[in-house]
Amino acid sequence: MSRLGTETAFDVLARAQKMQAEGRAVINLGIGSPDFRTPDNIVEAGVKALRDGYHFYTPAKGLPELRAAVANDIGARHGVIPDPDQILIVPGGKPTMFFAMLMLGQEGTEIMYPDPGFPIYRSMIEFSGASPVPIELEEASGFGFDAEAVLSKITARTRLIILNSPANPTGGVVDREQIDRLVAGLEDHPDVYLLSDEIYSRIIYDGRSHASLIGYESIRDRLILLDGWSKTYSMTGWRLGWGVWPRSLIAGAERLQINSTSCASAPVQMAGLEALTGPQDRVGEMVASFDERRRYLHPALNDIAGITCQLPAGAFYAFPNITGTGLSSQEVESRLLGDAAVAVVSGTSFGALGEGFIRISYAASMDDLVEAVSRMREVFGSS
Ligand code: PLP
Repeated sequence: MSRLGTETAFDVLARAQKMQAEGRAVINLGIGSPDFRTPDNIVEAGVKALRDGYHFYTPAKGLPELRAAVANDIGARHGVIPDPDQILIVPGGKPTMFFAMLMLGQEGTEIMYPDPGFPIYRSMIEFSGASPVPIELEEASGFGFDAEAVLSKITARTRLIILNSPANPTGGVVDREQIDRLVAGLEDHPDVYLLSDEIYSRIIYDGRSHASLIGYESIRDRLILLDGWSKTYSMTGWRLGWGVWPRSLIAGAERLQINSTSCASAPVQMAGLEALTGPQDRVGEMVASFDERRRYLHPALNDIAGITCQLPAGAFYAFPNITGTGLSSQEVESRLLGDAAVAVVSGTSFGALGEGFIRISYAASMDDLVEAVSRMREVFGSS
């Protein structure tokens, strides 16, 4: 257990909630959970499913109609319809990465992961016994990765490469050209698996299209695609996600599911079915709101003394550089929570290369963002 890490955004959330309970007006820009209500049609489908008697175990892989709907959704968005038998419905996005690391990680192997990146990657790599090898993401290149640099780190022990675009915590989106080059280079490494975390695939701005790894034929037999409902449909608390697994791994993934959760919740799966097959306009509206907030936050953060910020290209996080404040990332996190009652997450929660940055989730109302910026300006002054 000493090898297992955590996601400190949940610690910040707990501290912020404690302060709130004590009467402080905390603005929570710490946790990555959309602030919208789950669309009504989805909620109604969940309620109806309960009333209709969906209170049983489903097949471990998920309800067949839901797996078919996921396959169609992937087909419509990425142009490739996967075999529904290779889809495993799970409780949230996390189980797919958990299962992947349990299956592929072991002592003597290496797993590559983005730094700064979602903290559970490194945590689970270490738990599995594999050695974590960071893929360094740099501010100067918009936090995208460099395909040559990734390929140059592959050794005979590399088992898995984890990619995440659009990315948490940076808001970076990897260029299609870099993915093309990576995939071409991977033809020389046929034993290396890929885990592509595309949980923010629909939260992308400026007319850019999402480049899913599933679109690349040459790696499809060693790709684990992670996506789900949490962020797209504002369903983080429902706990529902999917993985598309290579034929060689799906039986193992299903067995891990049977050993751990049995299956995702039946009524929640029915709500997920409505989410995919019902009207999609709420998704567009939510993304438009995130975009509006992003456009507000970007210049507003750059107006604060000691802070510079790039315009995020996807997801709902800004990852400003705070080195000009003269404080460490952890100090900025503590100072903002203690002095301004604004919860943000230190960049170091996402890896060593997060030093010098904080993560701000703009999955919060415009009023909260305006107030948070004004409080931050009081702490650090205007530039
Ligand atoms: N992957 C990334 C990159 C995330 O940011 C998150 C949640 O923040 C997840 C996966 C996990 O999503 P879920 O809440 O559905 O488990």
